[in-house]
Amino acid sequence: MNYRHIFHAGNFADVFKHLLQARALEYFQQKNKPYFVLDTHGGIGYYDLQGDEAVRTAEAEQGIVRFAEQAADEPLAKQYLRIVSGLNPGSESLCYYPGSPVLTSEFLREGDRLVVCELHKEDAETLKQTPLGRHQQVQVLAPVNGYEAVRSQLPPIEKRGLVLIDPPFENTSEFDDVVDALKQGLKRWKSGSFAVWYPIKDELKTAAFHRDVAALPGIPKTMIMELNIRTNDERKGLHGCGFLWVNPPYGVVQDSEQLLPLLCKTLAQDKGANFHSRWLVGE
Ligand code: SAM
Repeated sequence: MNYRHIFHAGNFADVFKHLLQARALEYFQQKNKPYFVLDTHGGIGYYDLQGDEAVRTAEAEQGIVRFAEQAADEPLAKQYLRIVSGLNPGSESLCYYPGSPVLTSEFLREGDRLVVCELHKEDAETLKQTPLGRHQQVQVLAPVNGYEAVRSQLPPIEKRGLVLIDPPFENTSEFDDVVDALKQGLKRWKSGSFAVWYPIKDELKTAAFHRDVAALPGIPKTMIMELNIRTNDERKGLHGCGFLWVNPPYGVVQDSEQLLPLLCKTLAQDKGANFHSRWLVGE
């Protein structure tokens, strides 16, 4: 396991995923009943954007730094940006960035629950040492394989909520692992909302992934949302990413019509930037 998220924290892919995650959590909050979140690949929770690792890649400059400047007045980005700036009180430049479990913890009301997993030994220890490790409604399972948690934690007693699957995709088997996790997860919790983040590197692999998910027996409605920030050029690193979202909250589907153009406009790096969404499996 070589991947460390600290090198990429706050990049365009984080902004894409965390903005949509925040919108989903806002919709879960609108009902009076408790909800559950399983974050299978949690990372370390809080990211120091001024630390050596983040400074070395400077990916946040083209991600959250640009987005925070350009989308400050966007109502749909308000909660997400409020949480980011809440970690940086009184600071003109961004020092800290919230990972997915920290973002979720900001939306927990009494009775809501988060289970977060991290497998990397060192990152698991870091995650456990954060305030999340002491949060009464958060259970940090670390080091634990997030795919195993899909089997052990579902279905949740709350009956509604979100499973976030955000792997590093450093192994060639990762797309297959995700398809298997969805199969296992849906077997246990067919009404759950499952959001899988994936990188767009090889269009054939992405298409095969979509096909494999669509072929799962009894798969509920599933949406694809994708963002490319520039023309594909392997020398420049990741150029695009997507969410494959099984049972997406209705509000997120509606919001994506505004959020994808907003993300594309604020994060584009050349004229090859584009976005799209479509139903992979219809209702
Ligand atoms: N979801 C995080 C966020 O948005 O802040 C970032 C997650 S990062 C892309 C992927 C993380 O998954 C890494 O920290 C990596 O160590 C961890 N990881 C890799 N394989 C795993 C597995 N099978 N189970 C749990 N965590 C895993």
